[in-house]
Amino acid sequence: MTELLVLGGERVAAADGATTEVVEPSTGNAAWEVAQASAEDARRALDVAVDAFESGPWRRMSARERGHILTKASFLIRDKAEELATLEARNGGKPISGARAEIDIVANTYEYWGGAANKIFGETIPIVPPGLDVTLREPVGPCVLISPWNFPAVIANWKVAPALACGNTAVLKPASQTPLTALAIADILMEAGVPEGTLSVLPGPGSTTAAALIADPRVAKIGFTGSTEVGTQVMAAAAANITRVSLELGGKSANVVFDDADLDVAIPKSLWSVFDNAGQDCCARSRQFVQRAIYDDYVERFSKATEAIAIGEPLDEATEMGPLISQGQRQTSLDYLSIGQEEGARLVTGGDVPDGEGFYLRPAVLADVDNSWRVAREEIFGPVVCILPFDTEEEAIRLANDTHYGLSGSVWTRDIGRAIRVAKAIRTGVISVNSSSSVFTEAPFGGFKQSGLGREMGMHAAALYTEVKNVYFSEE
Ligand code: NAD
Repeated sequence: MTELLVLGGERVAAADGATTEVVEPSTGNAAWEVAQASAEDARRALDVAVDAFESGPWRRMSARERGHILTKASFLIRDKAEELATLEARNGGKPISGARAEIDIVANTYEYWGGAANKIFGETIPIVPPGLDVTLREPVGPCVLISPWNFPAVIANWKVAPALACGNTAVLKPASQTPLTALAIADILMEAGVPEGTLSVLPGPGSTTAAALIADPRVAKIGFTGSTEVGTQVMAAAAANITRVSLELGGKSANVVFDDADLDVAIPKSLWSVFDNAGQDCCARSRQFVQRAIYDDYVERFSKATEAIAIGEPLDEATEMGPLISQGQRQTSLDYLSIGQEEGARLVTGGDVPDGEGFYLRPAVLADVDNSWRVAREEIFGPVVCILPFDTEEEAIRLANDTHYGLSGSVWTRDIGRAIRVAKAIRTGVISVNSSSSVFTEAPFGGFKQSGLGREMGMHAAALYTEVKNVYFSEE
């Protein structure tokens, strides 16, 4: 059965009938057939989104009523959580335990924005002339939302939920490799009462489907998550029509471990701060800076913990790490392992391809890395960690900041003064102290430097999906 596009409130074939096979990473075989939206479908979806924005019920209904519908969607997502998690695990090559947690995040996101919809409001401003000056927070208009394959359901809905809560209409272009849960959740939103035409979902290649969407001058806002390379192209295309744009891009985040850290906590958490989702995580702490006095011990214990990671089939409850998303993504990691060793890194463990089908790769530890090397500067987006020694607090801060990225990071120390100094000095959008968690439904998330533009999540996301209008009422 072919998974069709979501367009105008129903499932429809692509205008030219095109479909593509979607591969299951644990086998390497095609497992699903999905309609591929063309430039013509992009135009149709925007016709629908513009019409729904200008004359449909979504923007006109009360914010409370919109909130009820999004809250209802969160309940329906929880009802179907196991089915959605199984689909996400198979399509994304994720351990089922992780996929369940991700679907729970999606449900929480709709619950949050269901409650937030009627709490987005303006100000009253004391101006000089007699009268009343107020600001209105208005929906920005039809939005194009583009998402990557690493956390398909989570990232797509971190955009769809606030865009809809603010009263916008949207066209979502999920990653070609992982369109399935985006389509399934759009069905759920329609079941919850999101009116037809409010949300379309168009799977298809970025270079054609997404490019056609973002070139259209009727688009009011582009929300993009993906690589810095493609983000640059999106920003350039947005410039042509002064389309509002927010970007969540790549990272090369630092995990800074001082010699007073509690290593019994820091090592297991730091392990998953880089190897979660087989290292295909924009927040991956792929540069682990470790203070010299504990460096050898850290490398040894971290490497042993790496070897103990249970690699296996996504649907096996015991699996902690599944395959990579594609043969290409695995080859990129293998290429960087060669580059790193040529640059002088010591491969302590991993990096070999297990026998059998699927895009598996054993997680690899590269030690004694220099921060100037390519493996420490470029985003690998696979299960490869670089461990680098440092001596002083000043050096750790300098090295952590010596990158064109600025997304995430962690600091491990029991010295509270140092924790505060380092957390403030590292130039990233999010950072955690004595933890590897830094992304929360309720808190702002986004990047400094080339890691992005704008803040998703929490009430900060409302700023991405609203325009501020100032209204002055004269007293005279
Ligand atoms: P990608 O940039 O290749 O693709 C992202 C999306 O953009 C996909 O839907 C793709 O089809 C589309 N696209 C491709 N070419 C396009 C074009 N010319 N115009 C418009 N859209 C186009 O990224 P990916 O490989 O799917 O995901 C991995 C990257 O995403 C990594 O760099 C990772 O760090 C980043 N990422 C960032 C965050 C964050 O929140 N900062 C989160 C997850 C992933």
